[in-house]
Amino acid sequence: MSGQIGVTGLATMGANLARNLARHGHQVVVHNRTAAKTDALLEAHGDEGDLVRADSPQELVDKLEQPRTVIIMVAAGDPTDAVISEIAPLLAEGDVLVDGGNARYTDTIRRTEELEGRGIHFVGCGISGGEEGALNGPSIMPGGSDEAYAIVGPVLEDISAHVDGEPCCTHVGTDGAGHFVKMVHNGIEYADMQLIAEAYDLLRQGLGLSPAEIGDVFATWNEGDLQSYLIEITAQVLRHTDERTGKPFVDVVLDEAEQKGTGRWTVQSALDLGTPVSGIAEAVFARALSGHVDQRKAAQQVLPGPGRDWDDQVADRDGFIESVRQALYAAKVVAYSQGFDQIAKGAEDHGWDVDRAALAAIWRDGCIIRAAFLDRVRQVFTDEPDLTTLLTNDYFRDAVADAQEGWRQVVAGAARHGVPAPGFASALAYYDGLRAERSPAALIQGLRDRFGSHTYRRVDAEGSFHTMWSEDAREVEA
Ligand code: NDP
Repeated sequence: MSGQIGVTGLATMGANLARNLARHGHQVVVHNRTAAKTDALLEAHGDEGDLVRADSPQELVDKLEQPRTVIIMVAAGDPTDAVISEIAPLLAEGDVLVDGGNARYTDTIRRTEELEGRGIHFVGCGISGGEEGALNGPSIMPGGSDEAYAIVGPVLEDISAHVDGEPCCTHVGTDGAGHFVKMVHNGIEYADMQLIAEAYDLLRQGLGLSPAEIGDVFATWNEGDLQSYLIEITAQVLRHTDERTGKPFVDVVLDEAEQKGTGRWTVQSALDLGTPVSGIAEAVFARALSGHVDQRKAAQQVLPGPGRDWDDQVADRDGFIESVRQALYAAKVVAYSQGFDQIAKGAEDHGWDVDRAALAAIWRDGCIIRAAFLDRVRQVFTDEPDLTTLLTNDYFRDAVADAQEGWRQVVAGAARHGVPAPGFASALAYYDGLRAERSPAALIQGLRDRFGSHTYRRVDAEGSFHTMWSEDAREVEA
């Protein structure tokens, strides 16, 4: 298929997306606020396809035939609003604006409302895969109306990654749905990376393995259930030697993790939705803790650890490695399960018809969290579209149950030896909280009623009740 499309914003992502479109036979009208980026793109890659320069938003719009489609690939937030306010007045009814940046989904809902009111289709489109994905085939999560998807969907599907001929692009839902699921995707990515980092730390501190040796362990893991892009590149990064010093690369990198905000947004949204995404939250907080350098320095001077060495637990080297693998696998399933729960709840609250099986399918390639196990997740949600939580599906129930012995040993060992493993530990606490027959929440309800007359429900009667704590402790119906 071929057609015509505009791209504005030619930094890493926009330039690569434009090249991807051009390589697929589309005529791409390219524009960037600063012309130097347009020059650079055309000079280096102008021969890859039909790339046409535009030096102003007006020229960009003029060079496109109606109905026009323009993809915006600029920094999220105010820059996106600035670009929309420049381009939208130049568009005609029926034209389509696609925001491919990492927009906050609530902004997308607002922009959709504004633009649709003016007859312009707006597609808030999550794009994952980094610069390589943008060029070679990303995973694409578009949100918008059916009419808008009918116009841009085929092009987006065309340039997305493909698995067995199926595009890694699906119409997620209306307005903010695409950016919402992209946000949760990034949250899951945070959790995934945190768990990988904890596994690395435990193998290093517990067994005293070198980064390169741990890289070899990850390479082996990449051949099993954990097979995924992030595990693959973990092996690569851990095996890398710093050119300048000859030291392991990971040892010369400052240990303060940065973040651009999508993980934080995921947790903020989860708090509003009341969905416990503890794996993602721990990952966001662990990054924040890593950045609190002054507190860390002060604590290093004074806070004692357990002063215990690892001899007992790590005598069986291969056994310990296997336990860490089990912990990583089980905690990862929990993190994904929580992420899908958030998507289901977000979809319910916003009235989006999100198909979890289709999402798992489009995350199988092109995106950062691509993983073999998403094939299984897709199958599960296809077979059981109303499944309450991934963890209760037979396959994942058994897989996590099989891994729980190692998982528990690792969490206990990490606590006993003073190695922080918040991702592994909180995932386990969630798992045990979920399966507990009685939750201590009953006591919390009792306390709430005691200090604030907040009432409680009973296990053996309908309705709400209050105990007259300050009087004769008799129970009354509330
Ligand atoms: P950046 O996020 O670094 O944004 C730079 C681009 O935004 C430049 O083209 C810049 O133009 C333009 N820009 C900034 N402010 C304005 C403005 N006020 N008016 C017009 N243009 C403006 O670029 P990336 O390529 O890294 O990312 C693009 C989008 O894709 C972002 O929203 C990002 O979050 C998202 N994304 C990025 C991924 C990645 O791996 N980098 C992955 C997935 C999504 P100028 O050259 O004139 O300064």
